[in-house]
Amino acid sequence: MRTDNAPVVRLSEYRPTDYAIDTVYLDIRLMPEASSVTARLSISRRDGAAAGTSLDLDGDGLVLKGLSLDGMGVADEARTVTPDRLTIHAPPADPFVLEIVTTLNPSANKALMGLYRSNGVYTTQCEAEGFRRITYFLDRPDVLSVYTTRIEARKSEAPVLLGNGNPVTAGNITGTDRHFAVWHDPHPKPPYLFAVVGGDLDAVHDSFTTASGRVVKLAIYCEHGKADRCAYAMDALKRSMRWDEERFGREYDLDVFNIVAVSDFNMGAMENKGLNVFNDKYVLVDPQTGTDQDYAHVEAVIAHEYFHNWTGNRITCRDWFQLCLKEGLTVFRDQEFSAQMRSRPVKRIGDVVALRQHQFPEDAGPLAHPVRPETYREINNFYTATVYEKGAEVCRMLQTVLGEDGFREGLDVYFQRHDGDAATIEDFLACFADATGADLTQFSLWYEQAGTPAVSVSHDFDADTQTLTMTLRQSVPETPDGKTKKPMHIPLRFGLVGPDGQDLSYGEVSGGRVNDDVIHFTGATATLTFSGVTARPVPSLLRGFSAPIRLEDDLCANDRFFLIGHDSDPFSRWEAAQQIALTMLTDATAKLRQDETPAFDPRFAEALGGLADNDGLDPAFRALALTLPGEVDIAQAIGHDVDPDAIHGARQALLKETGSAIGTLVSEAVSRNAPPAMFRPEAEDAGRRALRHASWNLSLASEPAASKQIAEAYSQAEYLTDRVAALRLLVHHQSGEAESLLAEFYDRYRDNPLVLDKWFAIQATAPGGQTLERVEALTAHPAFSMATPNRVYALIRSFAAANPTGFNREDGAGYRFLTGVIATLDKDNPSVAARLATGFRSFAMLEDSRRAAAQAALQALSATGNLSRDVADIIDRTLDDSSINA
Ligand SMILES: [Zn+2]
Repeated sequence: MRTDNAPVVRLSEYRPTDYAIDTVYLDIRLMPEASSVTARLSISRRDGAAAGTSLDLDGDGLVLKGLSLDGMGVADEARTVTPDRLTIHAPPADPFVLEIVTTLNPSANKALMGLYRSNGVYTTQCEAEGFRRITYFLDRPDVLSVYTTRIEARKSEAPVLLGNGNPVTAGNITGTDRHFAVWHDPHPKPPYLFAVVGGDLDAVHDSFTTASGRVVKLAIYCEHGKADRCAYAMDALKRSMRWDEERFGREYDLDVFNIVAVSDFNMGAMENKGLNVFNDKYVLVDPQTGTDQDYAHVEAVIAHEYFHNWTGNRITCRDWFQLCLKEGLTVFRDQEFSAQMRSRPVKRIGDVVALRQHQFPEDAGPLAHPVRPETYREINNFYTATVYEKGAEVCRMLQTVLGEDGFREGLDVYFQRHDGDAATIEDFLACFADATGADLTQFSLWYEQAGTPAVSVSHDFDADTQTLTMTLRQSVPETPDGKTKKPMHIPLRFGLVGPDGQDLSYGEVSGGRVNDDVIHFTGATATLTFSGVTARPVPSLLRGFSAPIRLEDDLCANDRFFLIGHDSDPFSRWEAAQQIALTMLTDATAKLRQDETPAFDPRFAEALGGLADNDGLDPAFRALALTLPGEVDIAQAIGHDVDPDAIHGARQALLKETGSAIGTLVSEAVSRNAPPAMFRPEAEDAGRRALRHASWNLSLASEPAASKQIAEAYSQAEYLTDRVAALRLLVHHQSGEAESLLAEFYDRYRDNPLVLDKWFAIQATAPGGQTLERVEALTAHPAFSMATPNRVYALIRSFAAANPTGFNREDGAGYRFLTGVIATLDKDNPSVAARLATGFRSFAMLEDSRRAAAQAALQALSATGNLSRDVADIIDRTLDDSSINA
């Protein structure tokens, strides 16, 4: 295989820098093609570093224009300069000031890392290693400095100039057409949190008074013509600020908080101190241009980035291996926020669906890595579902293990002890151990061991002795790191559901630790004996999805149907239905591959009908219950020799049968639960709309003539969420009305890029082999551009990641299309190209012919030999998977 020059970075080799950069003064003169950056760094040697130790600063494609040390020039022999490194061979023993002048071309920066100019707006993105594209620096998260930034630009080009921290002064530069602004951030921060923005931007303003009475000026900046779509984001920001005070005692700490929404951005959003920069997709929303899902995302992402102010900014990561320290914890916090703003069970189910669709496949494939990785070649490739979503699950488990009070106490210790630090997972866990006295040694394996643990449970009830025996077994699958896995501490929240549907009480438990209805399963096996169980129970295990595991229990279909009807835990009711569906779908897939007709248990549709008909249940929950497991979930459950066409066929067949059985009943439930005509983004109304969309899906699957009525609903729709849902269903069910409505949609929204992204994604995700030609044609559409990440994600990533039958076309053309796009895109934007490359992560589980075709496409891409480090890293790891050759 390829040997890349990029060194492997290892957690075990961490050592602090020899020098600290205490203060940073930056003077940035913005020009479209030749911006200049003067950096004045106050540098001191750290204790323990020998005097005269060389100072090595990171760069990335920089052009050095000037260099002085304490005001004097630096002789050629005293320094070594390349675009990627600046070395001062023997710096002074005492603190000194290094002044560096570099120039760069923001307009030519298509990687969108460092300082770039797009749609006329200057923006920065410095996480993870973008600051080194602005100036030479010790560009790592454990180098904390106090920054003062002076920004200068032509007034007409960039009337708005923003930096981190608080505004200090601003003014015109007399005799020129330029002006400047100075910003100062009193909080020491790592370089990845640095940001500047300059541009001709519109804004909405508001204010927030913190719990201690400090008035904070809030602003959201966006392109002209978009300010009227910022109201919901502003509202979400204020709710986030209040919530973090109330739930976690965290107050905001600057005089201003600014958000900037830009249209060309590689990621979702970035938590730069006091100056969050957002992909405008997560800011701009109104009823005519945003779906219910968009509203939920805006709320969650605004909260997420705001919450980073404490978990990430005030306390940052020592090194990039600790990324989950800020991300896992902050995702957990934003999930809790959304749960409180909306419906907790619905939010939890949504999070579990996402975890299973994105993280479980990652954990089961060649790109598996621990929540805290131990090596990397390209850190940009570790902004993964494992670090974020599984990282959040680990925080949630910590709360389950310690209880809400214990968790809060530990977190308070963390905020006190490490404010202003660059911390590690060990630091984090020590706070919880110290606050509560808990021994978290075994728990810490959740950060170290990759792979989704499997837990099998069998049970036996003895009516004579009123004893329930439960036998548990756990195993952690092999992962590419080849590590031998140890048993984990798995918290299993459970209930023993009695014949009347109420949870039974139980007496003594022997054979393991059980607290507050949580089994703390810590060994490879355990046999628990519950005494005093007065009736035969149905064990409801993993309530609320209390651990990110695969559970294999021994419940029979009758037990599961009973739980759908009776479990007091809404998650478990939903899960019981999902498990029945998965079993039926796995069987049906096998039947279809043998040209047999699948058969389904009619009680399934009946059970879903029972939920849909129950007006005592949240409509959003009912909509989720009516949604069958996704094709990715079914593929994961099958695990090997996967045939995506058969899976799709099986799922459609079950959908059709369910629709035939309960379609009418569901549409009656929809009529009883109609949302108000006037759009409100509230969760309750969104749930009613989701139920309506679920009903449309069932109708279309079982009765093609329903397409007329849904096309009618499209035409009559008052707001975007209904229009998008109708269009998606009509296109995905290949209804006769689809083409004319696609054209109508395009005409209606051609000037709105975010809505147009949906138009691309709906077409890219239409199931079936014919979609590839459509996607290829759309890459030549005038509205498509490889330079816009949102557009690339909408068309290409949706196709590769969310269209199993289209992407995995039997002739392998989908794979060759994707590797072609990756090769092209890699030249300009490696991080987006690498994200697309993860579309291959599950190819080893495909049936032979598809697997061979995917492997050949990957090998051909790899053989071109001129890939970025980002893409080469993903491709090499994907091809390295030993299971391919198994
Ligand atoms: Zn984050």
